Amino acid sequence: MPDRVYLDWNATTPLRPEARAAMVAAFDLVGNPSSVHDEGRKARRVMEEARTVIARGLGTAARRVVFTSGGTEANTLALVPGLKAPAGGVERLLVSAIEHASVLAGGRFAPAAVQTIPVDRSGVVDVGRLEALLAAGPPALVSVMAANNETGVLQPVSQVAEIVHRAGGLLHVDAVQAFGKIPLDINQMAADLVTVSAHKIGGPKGAGALVLGGGVEDVVPVLRGGGQERGRRAGTENLAGIAGFGAAAGAALATLAADLPRLTALHERLEAGLRQTSGLTVFSAEAARLPNTTLFTAPGLKAETAVIGFDLEGIAVSSGSACSSGKVQPSHVLEAMGVGSAAAQGAVRLSLGWSTTTAEVDRAVEAWRKLSMTLLKGRDETALERF
Ligand code: PLP
Repeated sequence: MPDRVYLDWNATTPLRPEARAAMVAAFDLVGNPSSVHDEGRKARRVMEEARTVIARGLGTAARRVVFTSGGTEANTLALVPGLKAPAGGVERLLVSAIEHASVLAGGRFAPAAVQTIPVDRSGVVDVGRLEALLAAGPPALVSVMAANNETGVLQPVSQVAEIVHRAGGLLHVDAVQAFGKIPLDINQMAADLVTVSAHKIGGPKGAGALVLGGGVEDVVPVLRGGGQERGRRAGTENLAGIAGFGAAAGAALATLAADLPRLTALHERLEAGLRQTSGLTVFSAEAARLPNTTLFTAPGLKAETAVIGFDLEGIAVSSGSACSSGKVQPSHVLEAMGVGSAAAQGAVRLSLGWSTTTAEVDRAVEAWRKLSMTLLKGRDETALERF
């Protein structure tokens, strides 16, 4: 039985060796980062080093990084009514229809204060509709992700920032899927708040950060109590998690320039291989995408069956549909793009990472070739809705 092939990097990534080493070292630090003695100072130094790496990775200062328990908490910390915007305190939240569930949930805004910005058929946020929504009400906090976790589509974040700021609002960018995968700079994006997460870049699960951009000087804490994180997030810090996050970010950013062309070539090889199946559609292929994400379907394909089929072939992939309480729901991302439910139910996602090899991509293509012969046998190709 050959080794397993992991192609579900957008769900989570294997721990980088640098992150593991930093975490093991941090586990042996006895001090609380808030303590003034030598042990405490040593722990604090590790934490502040990690903070500096993450800040530099986004082109900002360390004091603007607030460590959290992950992307979900950072999104919840960011999305709060009353943040001071140029046109006054934000009273409503505008979120793109393809955001992660933790953004769609609206943070601390009342459900009635949350409005949805539609996307086009490629999964790109509709900036015209955003402008209209901004013009039609009080100052808004807008949340648009840097890259979508299902399709990999990159959003026109700087353009969105310009529109939002012209209307006197603030912009939050969920960069969980983009940070460490493509070059990002908080000032170039002109984002006021940016969310990042450790486990998408080879760090541990359960660590992340909210990073403050130009327009926001402070956050409204979710967790109150001790004065940790400058009073922005109470609770003794997850030192090992933060150390692992810093080390993973350092490694990801150091190898980004080399990883990008390598991953782009692997991604192209993967999609060329998959496309040998007639009628196969790669979602959002016409849009600018992350160089690691492929979401595809084929006539008559059922995603759950395909994911199990890949798994039996030794390959971990995921479906574009969310499975909750045993019931498979079509993806809200594909729904927002206007993809019909039959095609959406057949969406399968393969996502690559820095240690993915050509041989692994070729195994995935070969597994798909085999699976497609059984799963698509006798299917009516006209059944596939076109995009
Ligand atoms: N935002 C996006 C775009 C994500 O893909 C994820 C994780 O899947 C999150 C936020 C949540 O991050 P975490 O798992 O660190 O809470």
